[in-house]
Amino acid sequence: MLKKILTCFSLMLVVLCAAAGTVSARAAELTGIEAFDNEESVRIEISYGGGKLDLSDVATEIKSGILFVDMDNTLPGRVSRVSGTKIQSGARDVIEKISANRTQERHTRIQIHLRGKITAPDVKVSVEPANRSEKKSARVVIDISTGGADNWTGFDGGGRIVVIDPGHGGSDAGAIGPSGVTEKSVSLAVSLKAQKLLTEAGYHVVMTRTTDIDVAAPGVPDGVELQARVDKAPPNADLFISVHCNAFSNSHANGMETFHAPGAIRGERLARLLNEELEKLGGLNNRGVKAARFYVMTHSKCPASLIELGFITNYREERLLASGDYQQKLAQAITNAVNRYFSQGGSD
Ligand SMILES: [Zn+2]
Repeated sequence: MLKKILTCFSLMLVVLCAAAGTVSARAAELTGIEAFDNEESVRIEISYGGGKLDLSDVATEIKSGILFVDMDNTLPGRVSRVSGTKIQSGARDVIEKISANRTQERHTRIQIHLRGKITAPDVKVSVEPANRSEKKSARVVIDISTGGADNWTGFDGGGRIVVIDPGHGGSDAGAIGPSGVTEKSVSLAVSLKAQKLLTEAGYHVVMTRTTDIDVAAPGVPDGVELQARVDKAPPNADLFISVHCNAFSNSHANGMETFHAPGAIRGERLARLLNEELEKLGGLNNRGVKAARFYVMTHSKCPASLIELGFITNYREERLLASGDYQQKLAQAITNAVNRYFSQGGSD
């Protein structure tokens, strides 16, 4: 409660200062940076003295695996030297190195090189007053949430365009499982979750559909419907991923597999990365990476893959495919594969 009141109070101060248009007379001098493991997050404390900072002095941005912390009204002081920075062992698997330098008059830029790459929503900034009993000076505190290993495989999408095609829809249910789960509903649910994750990771996601519809029109020939999906991709699209579930008359058939057009080198690479990420989820038989002449792959102008998430005609896999938790994992696997595709020089 006391903390809440203090936070309110400092917020009011910020508002009052902003309203009065005051600029603090003295720049704060940075005296040390320490990074350490703080259970669910890695915490970075930037200590300072001699001036006063508030939240409006601090801006953060993540680009290409570096967290930039720009601090107004500051002098880099001791932190511009290696000795001014300490990364404790618990934070070393997240942070590779930290450097700081003066970029302008009264302006310091701190670069925190991350081992994995994360996205902006995972960073929280606060300003803490000096704490005598803990022998701590005033600090800017940055928490980078690690929230599970998956967050650390992220990559800044840099606005690259990824087309996600939830298979079937509208009048075409696709395959139907023994308890009535439809392929069109699974493909849409997984695709929407992937859209969210990819968007958060900095991609521009184009969906061929976001609701239960035929993309062309109900009852048109397959080629017309599939071409309508291909046409949803803008000319400068970077990837096309079509999401499906498998089906077979024998309910014992099981597993996942990914496809690319024959001879499509980049499509094959995409299909392989998707396959590897789906395999990491465990639990499903891996039927491999295969070449096939599926319409959306042979007609896409960008690297394309069609993935079969599992057999909806298999009792166990139908249940998995219908589960929100598993759908989220599948969406994360797709996102990881896309990140890897671009982080390993596949953007040509
Ligand atoms: Zn299908």
